[in-house]
Order: sequence, then C-alpha cells, then structure tokens
Amino acid sequence: MAAAAFDTPKLKAYPVIPLVQAGAMSHLKPFAANASMQKALGFPEELVEDWQAKAIARMGELLGKYRSLQVYMDACVHCGACSDKCHYFLGTGDPKNMPVARQDLMRKIYRRYFTFAGKHFPWLVGAVDLTREVLDEWYAYYHQCSECRRCSVFCPYGIDTAEVTMAAREIMDSIGMGQKYANEIIGKVHRVGNNLGIPGPALENTLEGLEEDTEEETGLSIKFPLNVKGAEVLLITPSADFFSEPHVESLIGYAKVFHAAGISWTLSSHASEAGNFGMFIGNYEQMRNISLRVREAALELGVKRIVVGECGRVAYSFWNTLIGPFDYLDQRYPVPQHICEFTDDLIQRGALRFNKDANDDRIITFHDSCNVARASRMGNMPGGQFVIPRRIIMSVANHFHDMSPQTIHENTFCCGGGGGLLTDDLMELRVKGAMPRMEALKGVVDDHGVNFMATICAICKAQFTKVLPYYGFDMSMVGGVHQLVSKAIRLGDR
Ligand code: SF4
Ligand code: SF4
Repeated sequence: MAAAAFDTPKLKAYPVIPLVQAGAMSHLKPFAANASMQKALGFPEELVEDWQAKAIARMGELLGKYRSLQVYMDACVHCGACSDKCHYFLGTGDPKNMPVARQDLMRKIYRRYFTFAGKHFPWLVGAVDLTREVLDEWYAYYHQCSECRRCSVFCPYGIDTAEVTMAAREIMDSIGMGQKYANEIIGKVHRVGNNLGIPGPALENTLEGLEEDTEEETGLSIKFPLNVKGAEVLLITPSADFFSEPHVESLIGYAKVFHAAGISWTLSSHASEAGNFGMFIGNYEQMRNISLRVREAALELGVKRIVVGECGRVAYSFWNTLIGPFDYLDQRYPVPQHICEFTDDLIQRGALRFNKDANDDRIITFHDSCNVARASRMGNMPGGQFVIPRRIIMSVANHFHDMSPQTIHENTFCCGGGGGLLTDDLMELRVKGAMPRMEALKGVVDDHGVNFMATICAICKAQFTKVLPYYGFDMSMVGGVHQLVSKAIRLGDR
C-alpha cells in the first residue's frame, strides 16, 4: 500500500461526534469527465457558456418533474437530527458533509430563483446567486455523498439527501460538468454491456477458465453458461463478479447453487452488468438505457426468470418501471429475484444441503449494503433484506455475530465507496468515510474474534478490500454471502 497523503482516522471504542473542521474536505474533487465521455452520454462536452441560466432552467424542470425534490427544498426545519448521521461527516469533520448542509448547497439556490422571499429579499432567507464558486462547491460536496440514505432514516420529515445529490449531479451533467469515473463507466456499458468493458469473447474465456477451476476443486462438471437460449434463469450479476477477488468466489457459489438445484441458467454477454451508474448521476434516461439491455437479453434468450447477483438496488426499485412489464416471464416467481432470495428459498424447501463445518475457520459478521438495506426489499416479508442474507449465513456456517445495532439493518453505515465514489481520486474520502463501519467491525473483532465480513454488494466488496488495510485489517476479511455458500454446499447429494 503506497503511503497515503492524508491521515487515517483513529478508531474509537464508541462513536464520538467529531469537532467541526470547516473546509476540511473542500480540496477534494473527483476528476472531471472529458469531452468524449460527456459526448458519449449526450451531455455537453464542456461547461456551456450560459451555464448559469441553463442550470437554473434544469433545476426548474426537475422541481416540476420530481415533487419530492420540491418538498425536500421546502420542508427542512433545520432541526439538526441528521447532522451527525453521515459517515462522511463523522470521518472528516467537515460541516458541509452534514446532510442538512449538503442539502442547503442546493436550497440556497432554490430559494434565490424559485421563492418570492429569495427573489426579493435574499439576505433574509439565506438565498444566494448561482456563482462559479457555488458551482465548484456543488461539484466537491455533491461528490462527497454516496447516496446511501442513512440521513433520511433519522429525519422526522423523511428528507432524502440522496435525491438532492442525484438532482445536483443531473444538473451539473446537463451543463457539461460531469464526473469522469461514473460517466466513463456508463459509456462502457452502452458500448460493451458492462462496467468493466469486458467484451463477449473475453467473458467467454473467463467463464471457461472458471469451469476448469471449479472442476479441479470439486471433481464435478459445473457449468458457467453464456448466451444459452431457452435456459430457465437469466442471471444478471455485477461484472466485478467475473474477474475481481473476492467477487468471483460468489459467482462460483451461484453456479454451485444452480447445479445443486438442477435449474438451468445462463449469463448474457449483451447484458453482463447488474450495477447501474445511471442512478448515481441521477439520470433516469441513462438508467433506462442501461436497464433495457436486460430486457433485450431476456427476450432474445427466451428465459422464464431473471435472477440478480449480489447487487440489486436498481433491479428491485426501478426495473419494473423502466423495462417492465415482465409479462413474458414465469409469473410464479418474483420478478426480479435476488440471488439471496433464490438460494434462501431453496434452503427453506430443503433443496440444498450444507456442511457447515467447512466454514468453521470463519467467525462471520454481515455488513448490510446501504442500497439494499434502505432502498429495496427482499422476499415477501418486511425487512426480508435483513433476514434473508443472515439466514443463509447461519445455514452455511456455525459462527455468526452481528455488529452493534446502531450500525446494522436500516441504520447501517455505508462502506464509504458507493454512489459513484469508488475511484482512486477520492481515496481520502473513501478511507475517512469508512471509519464508522470500521469502528463497528473492530467491536466484533475485539469481542468475538470476527475474521470475516460478508456483504452482498460489488461496490462494498471492492471498497472494503481497498480500505481495510488502512485500518490494520486484512483485505481478505471481506467476501460475499455466496462465497460462504460455495464453501459449504454439498454437491454430491442430488
Ligand atoms: S445520503 Fe448518505 S452520504 Fe449522502 S448525506 Fe446522507 S448519510 Fe451522507
Ligand atoms: S433531520 Fe430533516 S428537517 Fe432536520 S435538519 Fe436534517 S433534513 Fe432538515
């Protein structure tokens, strides 16, 4: 690990609200998208000349289109309940990383151009002109929010800073001020079909390699099928599952589950990505274009079901609206279905058998990924997204301990790398923002000897792999739920 140009926060035994350090993170801005990245998504190639008028007009459109945004601009009473709930504030001490202050960056512009008082008496209501200085502040601090929604859980009015951040990013893209990391990735999905830009032949080679490795491990011919017409299930999984460690261990787990259950399945080279960065930049058109590839692949392959790998926010919250109706799929199954829901259902019906002792070298905890925890549901019960992954872990392993209640379920802390921030140019933010989760992890490491943190999000896995060593933990401590399934599943029982 190269020496960092910032100090890693010290972990404390219990949460402490930091002393405010004005401007502590004002220097940190992500790299800007270049002209070709912007053009590929239909955005202006650079900051347009009349950017101020265009930004205000775009804001007006969004206020009309998303009524929630208008409510969020008007409803805040500055009670402060959200102010110490953001991991980026807790990790950096920068007061502009308090959720209410982040919202106020937009609210003071909203008041200036869209309210009577702000138009005529701006000094009375904290309204300000949209200057270049304000725009630069937007670019910095709206890229220091992972859209995790933790703050909204504590707001008595349910104000959701994530939606404010999404609107700000949409406005900035529309005037030519996009972020490199997110926009470059979206361009790759449009061109190739996945975030990593893995072309079909490379994907095919990778899957063949995985078949060989898995046969060597198990002595069984476990398939990783690609583009198989007539398969029952189309699996849409994050592209990181094909290459990255520890992600690929979960992909092997999915394959073993399909094999053990005797259910035919396929991946698609056309739709080889479950993640959807259109959401991160707040742009529903991009989100829809990315999602459409899933519909096209499902129809082309003639599958009966769509199952989503360890990921899932856009699938659960938006697919039905963006690419439904799913009337061509088998209506006896949930559409879409998360791989955890799929595996849990098989476990509950006694269709899978496990040797739990195979995971005895692991003392496990579970990190609720924020987008699944606070913005989706899993299965047909309230809170299923909390119950199901834990139920799977306890079916395949003997040693499980939850982290502190204030840091799990809907109170979970973001990994620090979500919402389009998983890029090295924001490493300082990622490390500092991970601090609250690292403190909770340390609690179960110290109390119970936990040595493995399972999670069901590709971004969480990538983020933790990178930041765990900053806090003195081993990067191999993080992995997927299906990584544990893979180790314990008994394949010879069918
Ligand atoms: S959505 Fe998450 S990252 Fe954004 S302000 Fe709220 S708590 Fe912070
Ligand atoms: S908790 Fe809600 S109302 Fe209170 S300051 Fe935060 S956003 Fe405003």
